[in-house]
Amino acid sequence: MTLHRFFLPPGTVQAQSVTFPGETSRQIERVLRMKAGDRVVVLDGTGIEYVVVLEAVGRITTGAVAEQRRNETEPTIQLTLYQGLLKGAKLELVVQKCTEIGVSRIVPVVCTRAVPAEPSASRQARFETIAREAAEQSGRGRVPEIAAPMRFSEAVGEACAAGPGVFCWEEEHAARILDLAPTNESRQVGLFVGPEGGFTVDEAEEARRAGARVVSLGRRILRAETAAIVGSALLLARYG
Ligand code: SAH
Repeated sequence: MTLHRFFLPPGTVQAQSVTFPGETSRQIERVLRMKAGDRVVVLDGTGIEYVVVLEAVGRITTGAVAEQRRNETEPTIQLTLYQGLLKGAKLELVVQKCTEIGVSRIVPVVCTRAVPAEPSASRQARFETIAREAAEQSGRGRVPEIAAPMRFSEAVGEACAAGPGVFCWEEEHAARILDLAPTNESRQVGLFVGPEGGFTVDEAEEARRAGARVVSLGRRILRAETAAIVGSALLLARYG
């Protein structure tokens, strides 16, 4: 049976023993109804996963490390998704699905045609919870970072400085992700997907000038959230 996985703050595993935070303790006791002797997996974001045997289950749950191993599920590239701002539920879907697929970081991008307001602090916290839960459920070794919103020009500059930038544009009809040349050495790839209203010609030109490769995702226009999922999967298939 697959063991339950928990991402805990760095430093939670001390001298082979674990004290679970209050909220996780409650979840283990009341929701999962686990007992002393049951096993769970604890990850602290360092790439190591610990198999932990529960010792005390209650308001403060504790356990002892029985085994530790390197997590092997992370992709070989670091994929950052630069996503034009979307309405709440759609961005939540993108965070959840792209975490499962293997995206390392998601940056909401303020674009010309992005109507929604920038996410509030509580929505930001909600995105982080969704990312953590999706990472736990899908067996990832780390939780993707959900960055603060960035302006388009800044995002293009950052992505193209770090490695290849791949820009999904609905007006491009020839270039395809699976035909992209191999990345020379770079383990960082940036993927751009527009907001519901799409990218403007000026934005596509700016990305091209900065060195991004402008690609099509096929002949049909996908919704922004579908494009994020499909684009991430194709990029990881090509490079990951
Ligand atoms: N409103 C626009 C479509 C926007 S789709 C229109 O009607 O034309 C939202 C985003 O998804 C786009 O900006 C692009 O980044 C991506 N996308 C959707 N379909 C695509 C395709 N066939 N090729 C490349 N990118 C696509």
